[in-house]
Amino acid sequence: MQRSILPTVFALVLFSVMLAGCAELASTPATPEEIALWWKAGKTLPLETASKYPQAELRLTSDTGVNVLIDMSHKCDFFLLWTLGERVNRQGIRTIGSHATLDSVLTPGASCRVRIPVADGVNPFAWWPAPKFNVVLTEGAPQDPGYTTEEQKMLKRFIRGGGGFIVSGSTVRDQKTADEWSLNKMLSDYGAAVLPGNETYEGGRMPALQVNRDWEVVLKGETGKPIYATRQYGKGRIALLASSNMYRSAGRGGRAARAPGAAGAAGGAARPGASDPDKQIGFLADAIKWAAAGSPPVGGDTRFPTAMGGGGGIYPETEKRLEGIVCFYSKNQIPELVRTMNNDFPAITKDIYAWLPSPKPEQPMYLILCSGDGGGWAVNAYLPKEASTISTSSDGIRSIFGHEQAHTMSGPCKAADHPFGGNQGEEHAGWFQGKINAKYNGDKGPNRGCDKVFRQEYDGSQKEAEQIFKKANCDAWRTGHDRLMIWYVWQKLDDRYGPTWYPRWRWVQGQRWKDDPTRRLTWEESIEDMSIAVGEDLFPFFRKTGKELSRERFEKAEFMGKTMTLPVAPIEPMPPGNVCVDPIGDYTKPITAKKQ
Ligand SMILES: [Zn+2]
Repeated sequence: MQRSILPTVFALVLFSVMLAGCAELASTPATPEEIALWWKAGKTLPLETASKYPQAELRLTSDTGVNVLIDMSHKCDFFLLWTLGERVNRQGIRTIGSHATLDSVLTPGASCRVRIPVADGVNPFAWWPAPKFNVVLTEGAPQDPGYTTEEQKMLKRFIRGGGGFIVSGSTVRDQKTADEWSLNKMLSDYGAAVLPGNETYEGGRMPALQVNRDWEVVLKGETGKPIYATRQYGKGRIALLASSNMYRSAGRGGRAARAPGAAGAAGGAARPGASDPDKQIGFLADAIKWAAAGSPPVGGDTRFPTAMGGGGGIYPETEKRLEGIVCFYSKNQIPELVRTMNNDFPAITKDIYAWLPSPKPEQPMYLILCSGDGGGWAVNAYLPKEASTISTSSDGIRSIFGHEQAHTMSGPCKAADHPFGGNQGEEHAGWFQGKINAKYNGDKGPNRGCDKVFRQEYDGSQKEAEQIFKKANCDAWRTGHDRLMIWYVWQKLDDRYGPTWYPRWRWVQGQRWKDDPTRRLTWEESIEDMSIAVGEDLFPFFRKTGKELSRERFEKAEFMGKTMTLPVAPIEPMPPGNVCVDPIGDYTKPITAKKQ
């Protein structure tokens, strides 16, 4: 995945409450104990429970009373998730981000899935009544989930009744794609379209718009084509932007005042600046205020659900229960992704559990299936944990899901944490992700492309680590941590011993340090565990990779009351083999090297 917010060390999964699924569930759970039984059973709590645990107020310095829904059900990314809402809030405008299909959230009082604050660090999913919204902000691209017939109908009713609709297009390859794009089909009802090709504005490229006479063109690009237009529809208002880049910016928003002279363009719009976040958000705030004018500001309290580093405020409305996983997705989700989720997620889970036998968690994995730029997130800072995939491709969601699934798995190990990225850390998750990429997506070569640690000049004649491995990897690895070097070393162990060494290593660690369960192992201690696991001394190999270790040999080990003699593992710092997706053997028994 490209980005995720994950602590490097995961809490070990406890499996003391396997009873959760069998215990009697209260029909209207009220106490934290009754509520815990619900979320551990994978259930979203009823409206009545949500009313007992109100959300915190949004922090607004001024309050226009205008409620805006930031739609992420057609396109989701980190800017919409974690940046835009706060910036808009600073303009005195209230926001709720939403992954739910639009028709499920636009009726005031409709049940929306959110997280509610029940206790410190416990925020289970619950149904919560939708507030009234003044404005819906949405965007999409041709590859994103479309606007369903139900969504289009609901939006039309919303706008006719006085709602504001701010919609942004994005670049379209050709006329055929433009004609087939559901966003354009929706816009055709209002006499507008996003055109293929490019227009330039303030140095940025974006598509041009086509609008009929019902529209007022607010901004034109350098060749005179419209890029921002507005119209009235019934009691409501529509603002159409060629691209969300007109209000998006990569940088963190500063607090400086808006540039003088920024306001005043037709339709109440400031001009978008190419690189000034404050100017850009001012532009959007003006568009929101204009679009909101068809209905009175909702006002009232601002006890709204927020993202909290995860997928909130509003989660997808549809759910599918698979073994050990509760998937939330929106009805408009790309059908192929829903099929992939149904068909492959249980199989991927089974594969990773087969490679890494682990205690089954006491609670299901809550998985949010999102569409947009590739990536994902995982929430481990509070319960229940949540993970997500953000991708519009089946390969993408299989890969991200494998990664997030492995993060939840401790393997047969209940003691100590190791320095190879941690028991359930990024290297661990990425390692099994690589196996899933190979098995399901046809990725070839060494796991995670770990052969990239070799210098270009390497031809087999070099013997010193510094001559074999790239400087950046070598330097990081010598006394510390280098992800690719870790995967390289692990691939070399898969090459020699087959894939059983990994769960056996986890098991040896759990046995060896069971009286010191919170110990943070040194590299030496962890390499001892690994050597015991494979029955050979791995120290000489690690030293040849350039790892600085205080010990040269580990000839004899005491393990579970027996003395083991460990011959030197005959592994050289040579290029790795290909990713191994073979099944494992019995990890509690000694393993022997594969025939080379
Ligand atoms: Zn991760």
